[in-house]
Amino acid sequence: MQNEMASDASITPSNRYYQLIVTALLGALAHTGVCWIALQLDFFRGSSEVFNQVFSAIWVGHLILVGTILVGLNRRFRDPSMSVPIILWSTLSLLLTAYYVDQVRLCVMVLFFAILQTGVFRLRFMSFVAISTLCVSLYAFIIWMVAERHPEAIDVTAEVIQWAAFTMITVGAVMVAGEISSIRVQLAQRNTQLETIVDRIQDMAIRDELTGLYNRRHAMERLFKIREMANRDAFTFHALYVDLDHFKQVNDTHGHNVGDDVLRGFSETVRSLLSGRDFAARLGGEEFLVVLVKSSASESLAFADKLRQAIADCRYASAPDLRVTASLGLAAFHKGESLDRLLARADEALYRAKNGGRNRVCAAEEVQV
Ligand code: GH3
Ligand code: MG
Ligand code: MG
Repeated sequence: MQNEMASDASITPSNRYYQLIVTALLGALAHTGVCWIALQLDFFRGSSEVFNQVFSAIWVGHLILVGTILVGLNRRFRDPSMSVPIILWSTLSLLLTAYYVDQVRLCVMVLFFAILQTGVFRLRFMSFVAISTLCVSLYAFIIWMVAERHPEAIDVTAEVIQWAAFTMITVGAVMVAGEISSIRVQLAQRNTQLETIVDRIQDMAIRDELTGLYNRRHAMERLFKIREMANRDAFTFHALYVDLDHFKQVNDTHGHNVGDDVLRGFSETVRSLLSGRDFAARLGGEEFLVVLVKSSASESLAFADKLRQAIADCRYASAPDLRVTASLGLAAFHKGESLDRLLARADEALYRAKNGGRNRVCAAEEVQV
């Protein structure tokens, strides 16, 4: 069972449509074959001409349906697999020919169960019930029509017994389909739940829990990719180290919870200023990294100062009088430079900002302003 599910998961939607086409065409071929044998054995009322006309019409219908899928028109429909029209057309084709094959009517009608089988995993339960009811009713109607028009060709009692057996088996098939349908619904719900959980786990793996910013590991992965692109496409990017000033004092004076509020407040502030591919990450404690992609040295410096000012202006509901500042160190990436080297230069600039009195931005020497 597990293997079946695993292989089903690897089937792409278009593959699945092709599978349905092949199944429908094989079914149509089997139907044509059974009726052709009936014709050869003189069980098909009417001439070969009638046979040819009936099957031409049936095959035109099949080919239109298959053509619709092959040219991709089916993608515009709510159910691109076109299961209902295909199954409906196959069923109507059976019924049409069942009118002509007198002694072997049940042999043709049992092909309906093969058709139903193809719908088990595709149709909704109510479509299944509707198609089965239609089939059973039209089968009864056909028996009545033949009895009316060709009474000499039909043993009504035998036909009614066969019809009753057919109907009972159909009811059984519909009940099994109902079971399968409810299992399908449960599976779909579980899948949705699993997808949500996987999304959450993936998010937890790359984000810092307190601030929602990227964590250090993910920031480094991103930086690595950006560095590769920058080396290839010859654009530059900037690394901006941010360290909150005297943060230990915030904790000591206002408590750890207020400290946490400040960290969250910083996250909101920096997020409100970021755009495009720029991103921020919490490297640990009260230290953050902002990466500015494709902005010039002067734009990056302006951004850094805007962020510094926004942090200084930030107010905290849990400690309205609290003012927090930050020191920032900015370094521009130079083609071919290692990430360690870039970050060391940003760190050195941050160190100078701290030593210079805090609440300021310092740029690494190489950055031309
Ligand atoms: P400086 O101006 O030189 O940066 O001084 P500082 O006090 O900001 O730096 P220091 O490294 O001495 O202190 C950082 C403090 O950050 C110490 C630690 O308790 C606190 N801290 C680290 N992680 C968290 C956290 O998740 N929540 C809170 N509330 N505090 C944290
Ligand atoms: Mg600090
Ligand atoms: Mg620090």
